[in-house]
Amino acid sequence: MAEMVFKYSAMNGGKTLNILQTAHSYEENNFKFVIVKSIKDTKGNDFILSRNGMKRKVDILLEDNESLLTEENYQIYYTAKVILVDEVELLNKSQIKELWYIAHLINIPVLCFGLKSNFKGEIFSEGVSQIFAIADIIEEIGSSSLCRCGKKAIFNARKENDKFTDVGPNIVIDDGTNKEYEYVPLCSDCYLKYVKIGSEEAKKLANLVDKIK
Ligand SMILES: [Zn+2]
Repeated sequence: MAEMVFKYSAMNGGKTLNILQTAHSYEENNFKFVIVKSIKDTKGNDFILSRNGMKRKVDILLEDNESLLTEENYQIYYTAKVILVDEVELLNKSQIKELWYIAHLINIPVLCFGLKSNFKGEIFSEGVSQIFAIADIIEEIGSSSLCRCGKKAIFNARKENDKFTDVGPNIVIDDGTNKEYEYVPLCSDCYLKYVKIGSEEAKKLANLVDKIK
C-alpha cells in the first residue's frame, strides 16, 4: 500500500516551491495529482502561490470540519497518483487520520507539506501531533530557511507591530485593531535572544542554568 509522508520546514523553507515542483513532475509524466489545502489558509484563496510567482489551482479546499472521505471528494482524488497537501498544519486531527486511511486503504500516496511548530516554539496544532504520530515517513525539507545570523532557521517567530512576541493565538485574523504581523525565521539562539529572553519562563530557566554553571 501507499505511504503518507510529512515534509516540514520553518517558514520560507521552500515548502510551496517543493509542492509545486512535485506537481510539475507528475504533470510532465501525465500522472494525475490532486492538491488539497485548508480554507483557513486564505493566502491565494483557491490557489497555492510560491514566493517566486509560481501558482497552482487547489482541487479540494477543505472546510474546517469537512471530511475527505465523502463520495464527492473521492470522485476528485480516486484516480490520482498522488495527493499533495499544502499547509498541512491547518488540518484537524481527523482529517490527518483520513489522509492516512486514503494512503493505506485506497492506495494513493499522500505527501503533506507544512510547519511543525508555531511562533511560540510549540507543536503547531493537534493535526501536526497526529501526523508526527502516524506518518510513514517524516522528512525535513533541506535547510533553505536561514536565520538572519546565517544559521539554519528552526523557529517561526512572530512580530506584532515590529516587536517579537510569543503571546497570542496561533492564527491571527484581522481583528480591526490595525496591528501589523510579520513572521521571521530564526535559529534557536536568535529565538532565545530576541523572543524568549524577556519571558517569565525563560528568566526562570536561565536562572537555573546560571546556578548550576
Ligand atoms: Zn540566528
